[in-house]
Amino acid sequence: MKAFTVETHDRVEFLSITRQVADHVKEAGLTDGVVLVFVPHTTAAVTINENADPDVMRDMKTALDKIAPNLAEFRHGEGNSDAHARSSLIGCSKTIPVEKGRLALGTWQDIYFCEFDGPRRRHVFLQFLAAMPA
Ligand code: ZN
Repeated sequence: MKAFTVETHDRVEFLSITRQVADHVKEAGLTDGVVLVFVPHTTAAVTINENADPDVMRDMKTALDKIAPNLAEFRHGEGNSDAHARSSLIGCSKTIPVEKGRLALGTWQDIYFCEFDGPRRRHVFLQFLAAMPA
């Protein structure tokens, strides 16, 4: 397994980690298989979404503000239950196919680390799984 860290600067932030994941896949020498991207946090997540128009990720934040707002009736003493809800909704892992040493992402897809209770220093774990020879 490999790991890298990301620094977030806002409470809610979407950071592209596509470059880091692609570089680690290359360094690992994985040619065909999948890379598992796992975020070991309960107030963060990982998603794949559009990289062309920055308004898409801005709108994701607006959508999550509507879907999972911070509610007065939340009981968790830390006061960040909206972040916990968002982490579960988006999920803490993604599995991405690797073909000929490259991430098989669509043209407009980027992998985004999702911060929901920043700013913090966060970790991303990667596991590389080679495909069986066809
Ligand atoms: Zn908490």
